[in-house]
Order: sequence, then structure tokens, then C-alpha cells
Amino acid sequence: MTPAPRKPRRQHLLTVQHTEHLTPHMVRVVLGGDGFSGIEFKEDTDQYIKLLFADPALGLQRPYDLDALRDQLPQDQMPVTRTYTIRHIDRERQHIWVDFVIHGDEGIAGPWAAGAQPGDQISFFGPGSGYAPRPEADWHLLAGDESALPAIAASVESMPAQAQGLALIEVRDAAEEQPIAAPAGVEVRWLHRGADFSPETTQLTAAVAEVEIPSGDVQIFIHGEREQMKAIRRNLVKERGVDRRGMSLSAYWAYGRVEDQFQAEKRTPVGQIDED
Ligand SMILES: Cc1cc2nc3c(=O)[nH]c(=O)nc-3n(C[C@H](O)[C@H](O)[C@H](O)COP(=O)(O)OP(=O)(O)OC[C@H]3O[C@@H](n4cnc5c(N)ncnc54)[C@H](O)[C@@H]3O)c2cc1C
Repeated sequence: MTPAPRKPRRQHLLTVQHTEHLTPHMVRVVLGGDGFSGIEFKEDTDQYIKLLFADPALGLQRPYDLDALRDQLPQDQMPVTRTYTIRHIDRERQHIWVDFVIHGDEGIAGPWAAGAQPGDQISFFGPGSGYAPRPEADWHLLAGDESALPAIAASVESMPAQAQGLALIEVRDAAEEQPIAAPAGVEVRWLHRGADFSPETTQLTAAVAEVEIPSGDVQIFIHGEREQMKAIRRNLVKERGVDRRGMSLSAYWAYGRVEDQFQAEKRTPVGQIDED
């Protein structure tokens, strides 16, 4: 049987309304415009979008006609995607907030956000999603580095007042902490690397290994750098016997890899969080 043709992905076009430096290494880009009304938002709290970026030297107009471009451009000149979380949806103003880690001059999306100006256009696919805190869960564990901070903050802020749990968030230092409106029973604990991210400075894996997980209905959301996610998975699932089912655990990026390579490696052994 011939498989049904895939539904074409719709590309949304929004405009930068304004930007805000939340901390020295995190910029909020507020996006809005006519394209807002066509976005099909989900109920989940980790909604992510795939922003498209083309080489400015090509002078392409957004939204990109990817089918036509595939016939015109070599593969290495095609627009690339970068994945970002919707931190907040402001339905009244028809805005979305996207918080970008500024991780130096390398990359495409981080430098774009650092220099974004009102009126700049951006186009994207999505949102996709996969997690929302279950109101009936007895206890929540959330953990991640800065890349997962927007998703963790949005998730914690959506929890009912009686929710219980712990959110472990690794950042560079105290200047990178952000206010999060957590329910009284959900502790937000900041971990300070004291330096840029590196396999030597990261503290997340060790901190998760120290967490005492209560018995009962525990819901887990952990995302961040790929090797840390593998180590955390080994600790929780292999060593401590925590049920992998229902656990939201994946890599959001990989140290030393641009996102294109990171995504491509998901189809190879090095890209797998689950080794069996
Ligand atoms: C579902 C999902 C949601 C995400 N949500 C967010 C979000 O809300 N905010 C956010 O900032 N990121 C988020 N990320 C991570 C983001 O997609 C990656 O960090 C991405 O690589 C950034 O693209 P770039 O063009 O800036 O850098 P790239 O061109 O991809 O990479 C350039 C270099 O920078 C390094 N690098 C990439 N990200 C980081 C980082 N965070 N810290 C240190 N070094 C880095 C790479 O290893 C590489 O060496 C999310 C990822 C996923 C899968």
C-alpha cells in the first residue's frame, strides 16, 4: 500500500515586537503579528518551535518556499532549523515569548536573538510538544540547564497551588537566576557552574543523583546537554530503577555540535539517550 502523503508543514511568520535582556546570558524575544492567529497551540507546557534561518547573503524572503529552494539551492545552502520553547503565550496581545541562551558568538539562533530588533521577521514550524505536569501527580522532579529553563519555568508556573516537587536548574552563576512563580511546595534550586558550560563544570548530573525521589506517583521532566542526559538516564533508570515510561527525558543540544549535526546524530548510536 502506498503511504498517505505527509501533511505539508505550515510555516508561520511573526515579527519581533521587542527584546528584553533577562540576565547577562538570556534574551527574551517577543514575537507577534498577523501570523499569530494561524498558530495551533497545544495544551502542553514544553511547546517548541523550529525557527528557520537562511544565509543572509542569499537575500531570501520569509516565509521560505522550501520546495522551490530545494530545486534551486545545493543542500548546504538550504535554510536550517533551530529549536526553541515558547516560554509564554500572551493571547491578549497575540504575542509569544521565546527566551534564547546567549552562548557566545558561535551559532545562528543565539547571535540572531542577541541582535534582534523590532520589525525583524522570523518564520518557524510548530509548535510540537510532549509534556505537561499532571495535576494528580504526588511529586514532580524537573531538571535542566539554561536551554530547558524556559520549559521548566513554564511548567512549574502552570502547576496547581498544592503541587509538590523540586526543580533543579543549572546556570552559570547567581546573575543568571530568574524569578519563577512556583507553587509553595515546589522548590526551585539553582546550581551554579561558575563558568561556561563544559563537561568539567556541569553539575546537573551529580545534583540529580543526590535527589531523594519519594515513592508514589512521581512525574519527571529532565532536558539539557546530551551527555548529561545519558548519564542521568543511567543513574535514574539503570541504577535506581525509576520507571522510564512517562518520564520526559531528552537532549536539547550537544556540546561541540551545531544543531544540524545534533539532530542528524539522533539516528546514530551517539545520539541515543537510551542505550537499550
Ligand atoms: C525541544 C527543544 C527546546 C529548546 N528550547 C530552548 C530554549 O527555549 N532556549 C534555548 O536557548 N535553547 C533551547 N533549545 C536548545 C537550542 O535548540 C540549542 O541550544 C541550539 O543548538 C542553539 O542554536 P544556535 O544556532 O545558537 O547554536 P548552534 O549553531 O546549534 O551551535 C553552535 C555551538 O554552540 C554550542 N551550543 C548550543 N547551544 C548551547 C547552549 N545552550 N549552551 C552552550 N553552548 C551551546 C553548540 O554545542 C555548538 O558548539 C531547545 C532545544 C530543543 C530540542
